Amino acid sequence: MTEVAGTSILRTRRELRDALAAARRPVGLVPTMGWLHGGHRALIARSRADNATTVVTIFVNPRQFNEATDYTQYPRDERRDLEICATEGVDLVFAPPAEEIYPPDFDTTVSVGAVAQLLEGAARPGHFDGVATVVAILFGLVGAERAYFGQKDAQQVMVIRQMARDLAILTEVNACPTVREPDGLALSSRNVHLDPAERAAAAVLRRALLAGRAHWEAGERSAETIRQTLRDVLATEPLARPDYVSVADGSTLEELDRVDGPALLSLAVRFGATRLIDNEPLP
Ligand code: AMP
Repeated sequence: MTEVAGTSILRTRRELRDALAAARRPVGLVPTMGWLHGGHRALIARSRADNATTVVTIFVNPRQFNEATDYTQYPRDERRDLEICATEGVDLVFAPPAEEIYPPDFDTTVSVGAVAQLLEGAARPGHFDGVATVVAILFGLVGAERAYFGQKDAQQVMVIRQMARDLAILTEVNACPTVREPDGLALSSRNVHLDPAERAAAAVLRRALLAGRAHWEAGERSAETIRQTLRDVLATEPLARPDYVSVADGSTLEELDRVDGPALLSLAVRFGATRLIDNEPLP
């Protein structure tokens, strides 16, 4: 175990278990893939406010990437991440090598049903199996009272809630609001891949979602009309190549005909080689 300014860095399951045995309860868990930004810092702040001990995990999970280049090119800077964790007052950082999470004889996949099959699940085969599997492992290893996830990945939160409920995992799953740049772009580790023109263009995601929301606030209830509003705004940006545009039921993520209850506006859009997602819930 090493330490940076009061933050302990743990590499193995055993080191983590020993550190947790001495940790004050309750424990809050913030799972990340590193390249930490303001979105992660908000999750850490919330965990610190709610818990006596905060554990951040930094693990670029190979099983949740469905494109090999996305995995190899995912940004990594562990030293910088550890400094951020120390500055933010994180108590324990678990940053294991891949074989510590997936030993050679590892042979289990956690696969969530309906809610994991739509949207990101349909666009990225295997993605949510990878997410649910690694989060189940982390929940088991840390045994936290609470865990914190970003609303930016709204479907991910729903998949993890379903998994935790079904597998009788006692860790409480909390969702935190999306942290954004001044022009509305959601903070994301992948934003670093955008060139300046793509970065400027990417603000169209938020504009599209807000236009859809405004249309709904003005009384529009046709889901297809709201989808078209999102598509029309995206079409004003030549660098934006939409993957999907969705107006879905807020609890099942099934595409809606009419928006009569809680709903989720969501989209996935490519800018060059970079694929970005964002969403806006409707009450
Ligand atoms: P990642 O490192 O991208 O896997 O994200 C780790 C956690 O941070 C996930 O729960 C994400 O939903 C959350 N997160 C990522 N970006 C943001 C953001 N802009 N605002 C709030 N949470 C975020």
